[in-house]
Amino acid sequence: MSENLEEYTNKVIEEFEAVSKDAERVQRETLKSILEDNASAEYLLSLGLNGRTDPESFKACVPLVTHEDLEPYINRILAGEKSSILTRKPITHMAFSSGTTQGKSKYIPWDPDSIMVHSKLIFHTAFAFRNRAFPIKNGKVLSFSYRKNPTENEAGIKVATATALVTGDEQYTPIMAAINSQVCSPQEVTLCPDFEQGLYCHLLCGLIFRDQIQFLYTPFAHSLVNAFRTLEQVWEELCNDLREGVLSSRVTDPSVRTAMSKILKPDPELANLIHKICTGLNNWYGVVQELFPNAKYLLGIMTGTMLPYVERLRHYAGEVPVLTSDYGASEGWIAVNVHPTVPPELASYTMLPQIGYFEFLPLAQNSIAKPVGLTEVKVGEEYEIVMTTPAGLYRYKVGDVVKVTGFYNSTPEFNFVRRSNLLLSINVDKNTENDLYISVMAASKVLAKEKLDVIDFTSHVDLSIEPGHYVIFLEISGEASEEVLSECCNCLDKSFIEAGYVTNRAINLIGPLELRVVRRGTFHKILESSVGRGAAVSQFKTPRCVPSTNTQVMQILTENVEKKYSSTHYN
Ligand code: AMP
Repeated sequence: MSENLEEYTNKVIEEFEAVSKDAERVQRETLKSILEDNASAEYLLSLGLNGRTDPESFKACVPLVTHEDLEPYINRILAGEKSSILTRKPITHMAFSSGTTQGKSKYIPWDPDSIMVHSKLIFHTAFAFRNRAFPIKNGKVLSFSYRKNPTENEAGIKVATATALVTGDEQYTPIMAAINSQVCSPQEVTLCPDFEQGLYCHLLCGLIFRDQIQFLYTPFAHSLVNAFRTLEQVWEELCNDLREGVLSSRVTDPSVRTAMSKILKPDPELANLIHKICTGLNNWYGVVQELFPNAKYLLGIMTGTMLPYVERLRHYAGEVPVLTSDYGASEGWIAVNVHPTVPPELASYTMLPQIGYFEFLPLAQNSIAKPVGLTEVKVGEEYEIVMTTPAGLYRYKVGDVVKVTGFYNSTPEFNFVRRSNLLLSINVDKNTENDLYISVMAASKVLAKEKLDVIDFTSHVDLSIEPGHYVIFLEISGEASEEVLSECCNCLDKSFIEAGYVTNRAINLIGPLELRVVRRGTFHKILESSVGRGAAVSQFKTPRCVPSTNTQVMQILTENVEKKYSSTHYN
């Protein structure tokens, strides 16, 4: 690490220490600044805030809202009304959330100025802590990123996914350059309209610059797994390209071909080395450490819906650590990972009190529970996050549940627990994303006996026949025997241990759980179909429960079912 970078990261950590010691005051100031700026916005005026900026008046006047409550305002902005609706300055950008978890896309007001200030804070703070534990040298990042430039709607509002809005902002490159995190792929590759072609080129760029790669990155871990699964299939073609210095004909995009021709030169020696490495691997274990000898870590969001991919990533990574990055949403940044050495399974995120005004809604059993302030949370309790941002979201329920694990000075730290909406329920049973994860992990141990992995999974509540029952769709890495799959099915059923489920299963008010094994590549088809409908690859999250109304995904799953099993566990 250059001395300047070390000095800089020390300064960033000092600033973080100071702010985290004074979280309550910083929160008040953040709220004051948001409310002062937007005092003349129609939304706040209509609630009678009358220019007051203290948390007490704010909470008394402004209700908790969901995205649905704000839709009428958002629709007016999208239709081109230029008045101060949610913010004093009219909103010019909207983040388009892919809706991959819920099957419904959302437009979310976006303020580029504040978001880029917060992005810098998050990226630099996380880097400063990470670099103490895993220092990188001057080099490059192999980043599996895909981006579409914003489109303008008829009213001139710029629309793109949150990742594209951040990474496409002109400030992004200098922000990353300041922490030695420049990507190895040309911009044309990141912008390639066909993400499979883009991914192929990212892999090729990574191999060309293999000695310089300091870490591998993707916004969500799923894309890293997808990248290495693709490598398993295309490595020989990549070797040919390196040998000949000619890009495979699978890449047809002219601007990408031109950009790649500037860096791809015939290099038989490199091609032979990569060939030797790939053929010498045992089931691709440790491919990262072998191909990228100077890589210090793999980085991306690895918690929540991404946790199921961590084991597979560790397999590819070998000795290279896998680190979870930060926590944010299209609505805004929320928290940073300042404990990079903690494995994703135990990772906690730390709130930055200057990037928004945060409240925590206790998940107490009674419905009148009131949100508490950032410094008032209790360790061990679960809360839903409520945020107020400079982009015109006031007391907005993000839909995520977190569990407070402690404090960093006076600012809270928490585990990401799950999305707040219930996943699986037929009558009184209540099983969440976490319960599903636990059940699938138990089943994957059964599969491991035959050296097989769960590639991906989702669930569905089937109410089409009485009694309703849970359906779990699994994509598995190879052929499992009938006995093992039946055992898996029973294991899934018995691993849902929530009282409502267990009692209702025992008296057949909930029917036997069904395991449906889908063909290899089914979940990739779901990804492709989401992308075809405008979702961003880098923000893709496999939906963990598919309602019947999500007809596209339901159809893909149903058409690809190879085998079905019904649980006998409660017989
Ligand atoms: P999006 O709707 O695409 O903007 O995705 C935002 C959502 O991704 C959040 O509300 C979370 O549910 C999830 N998410 C983002 N960061 C993390 C993280 N570090 N750990 C777990 N889930 C996350």
